Amino acid sequence: MTLLWDQHACLPLRPDADVGVLNRFRHGSGTYVSINVGYSPQSLADSLALADAFRASIAALDDAEMVATTTEIEAVTGAGGLAVAFDLEDSGSLDGDLDNVRTFYDRGVRTMLPTYNHANAAGCGCLDTEDTGLTAWGRQLVAEMNAVGMVPDGSHCSARTGLDMCEISTAPVIYSHSCMRALWEHPRNITDDQARASAQTGGVVGITGVGIFLGPNTPTLEAMTRHLEYAVELLGIEHVGVSTDHSFDQEDFYAEIAANPEAFDESYTRWGPIQWMPPETFVTLGTHLAQRGWSDADIRAVLGGNFLRVARESWR
Ligand SMILES: [Zn+2]
Repeated sequence: MTLLWDQHACLPLRPDADVGVLNRFRHGSGTYVSINVGYSPQSLADSLALADAFRASIAALDDAEMVATTTEIEAVTGAGGLAVAFDLEDSGSLDGDLDNVRTFYDRGVRTMLPTYNHANAAGCGCLDTEDTGLTAWGRQLVAEMNAVGMVPDGSHCSARTGLDMCEISTAPVIYSHSCMRALWEHPRNITDDQARASAQTGGVVGITGVGIFLGPNTPTLEAMTRHLEYAVELLGIEHVGVSTDHSFDQEDFYAEIAANPEAFDESYTRWGPIQWMPPETFVTLGTHLAQRGWSDADIRAVLGGNFLRVARESWR
């Protein structure tokens, strides 16, 4: 039984989104998937409404459960089911109130990235030209996340914001969906220094299946494996994981980019419509790695064991 852990996937950000598409991650063994309930355009009310609607829809699925603890993850995935929790991309949905970290935690949010591509009250984003790192409020935010048990995530943040998070966090800091910049120059990818700093906190870098982050819009198992093997060489096997960042409604995501140009830049459109690795391909990654000569223990660590360890050390 190999646990497959997708640290970030995207449903359309509408309360009536079809959560049944998460069944595409089924692969004869248990799967954990984190889906986001908002990024920078969503208000507090928007993200709370999405979390409540998705919770209700997931409860209505067969063999899928919202999970609040790692014990629940093991119970659900051990029986071959689908375990689901939430993440937030951007801290804007907190509406400036640190008490909302707990509000979202109680609704199932287990990871959050403080900034999405551009600067906000917490810090700078990866598309900003100036990088002044975490703000004073951003530092309070990381401390509150540590206290509540929500995992700090450096994806979409600026390099210095990510490094500052790693410096002050008392628990592991992850990169939920970021590829290696040494292999492919894209502003959403992370430097070796960012990846090493995350590993030093006990964190995990989640190599993601988005074509434009893996290479010239190439969401293949070969491209993902190239980033995985580079990251394993750099960080050690215990600090590398995976995430699809799969957008289940691709037309919806293209419409998001068009409707929110301030949140993106031409690095999202330069290679034409973004291509994602389908879940049906992602679930075969373990077989692909075995054919490459990876050991069973290394495959288990990267496919899910490492992110599960972070959750065990962080969630309360
Ligand atoms: Zn993202």
